[in-house]
Amino acid sequence: MAIQAPRGTKDVLPTESYRWQYLEEKMRKAAALAGYREVRTPVFEHTELFARGVGDTTDIVQKEMYTFTDKGNRSITLKPEGTAGAVRSFLESNLYADALPCKMYYLNAPIFRYEAPQSGRLREHHQFGLECFGAQNATVDAELIMLAYHLLDELGVRNLSVRINSIGCPNCRPTYHGALKDYLVSRLDGLCEDCKNRYERNPLRVLDCKKPGCRAQVADAPSMLDYLCEECRAHFEELQACLKAENIPFVVDSRIVRGLDYYTKTVFELVTETAGGNLTVCGGGRYDHLVSQLGGPDLPAVGFGMGIERVLMLLDGEGIQIPKPAQYEVFVTYMKDCHADAFRLVQALRRQGIRADMDHCSRSLKAQFKYANKVGALWAATIGEDEAKAGTVRMKNMQNGEEQTVPQDQAWETIRNMRKEAE
Ligand code: ATP
Ligand code: MG
Repeated sequence: MAIQAPRGTKDVLPTESYRWQYLEEKMRKAAALAGYREVRTPVFEHTELFARGVGDTTDIVQKEMYTFTDKGNRSITLKPEGTAGAVRSFLESNLYADALPCKMYYLNAPIFRYEAPQSGRLREHHQFGLECFGAQNATVDAELIMLAYHLLDELGVRNLSVRINSIGCPNCRPTYHGALKDYLVSRLDGLCEDCKNRYERNPLRVLDCKKPGCRAQVADAPSMLDYLCEECRAHFEELQACLKAENIPFVVDSRIVRGLDYYTKTVFELVTETAGGNLTVCGGGRYDHLVSQLGGPDLPAVGFGMGIERVLMLLDGEGIQIPKPAQYEVFVTYMKDCHADAFRLVQALRRQGIRADMDHCSRSLKAQFKYANKVGALWAATIGEDEAKAGTVRMKNMQNGEEQTVPQDQAWETIRNMRKEAE
């Protein structure tokens, strides 16, 4: 049998890459408008970065990482999320010595997680992510939530709900941990093995367990919001005030803790609620201690990650058509002896910025037309013996069948004029 792609991976074929490019353009624009500039970091990093950064009590680190030993005996891991690599590069290049805050985004970063593949859950997926380093105010948390919300809204995603929570800081969280453990201790028998372990090491993680049994056990668990210190409470209130001022609909959901250990204060998710179930399309939050934890200065930070495949899935689900560019505006069809003219015309059209091609397979004129139709060319430009002699080309509009004969060196103007009409 021919070799197949590994389970949980997906090709983006030439026939569908325009959908990705469409999103890319919108995402780049949205990021740039708020001053975020692109960062590109390696696909793999030292395993220690994620163990220390993401947290060794998380599912990601405990179960989902693609880790291997390279030929130099180093432990290497394929990026299981985008933030740790961004922080590592921010520190390694001393960007904290430049103007702060430092805003960056990554686009189509491949993310690898060894998960059970299912709809919307891949082993390699891609994220659009933003990170802002060096700003503690809740206005940045709000700007990120708004950016994600407006982007998805403009793309046409419906039934979008913004859920926000605050999970406090090292000052107030320990008290909450205590209260949560008090609540859980009598319910330990009802928790899964993982959660029993989480109870010991990081009880907040129990709230993030997706198993129905565990969800039922935590239904009446105390809320972190009742334990926030003054600073965290004020920060959370400021965030809500910003969102309200901008009419962003949101709900406070004290069950959101997120699957990574580094968060402090704000955490949020953008979820679509449909009859078929909920889908989280974007998740993020503040991580005020990750930079120092990874050996850098004491700098606050906040960011989010958005799953590109999930955005595309939602657009599909809503039946939203993404404009599909024609592969060729002009397909030059020609009689055998006129191939030199055809070749020249194709090059001239391309120099004018017009997408053009010709037959390269010695097909009959009839078969060339068939091909032009099949690939959806907007125009067929035919050069037969008469045209070659006269230096002309017969232009056929493939959509309405209209024909006109024009000098070869003016063919591009015909296309340009039609483009203008279309605009
Ligand atoms: P989930 O709760 O669905 O497992 P998560 O909390 O693990 O998500 P994050 O780490 O916050 O996800 O990643 C940010 C976004 O990346 C998610 O909101 C989702 O859109 C997308 N994503 C995460 N894991 C996958 C995956 N295995 N396949 C496809 N997209 C994913
Ligand atoms: Mg996950």
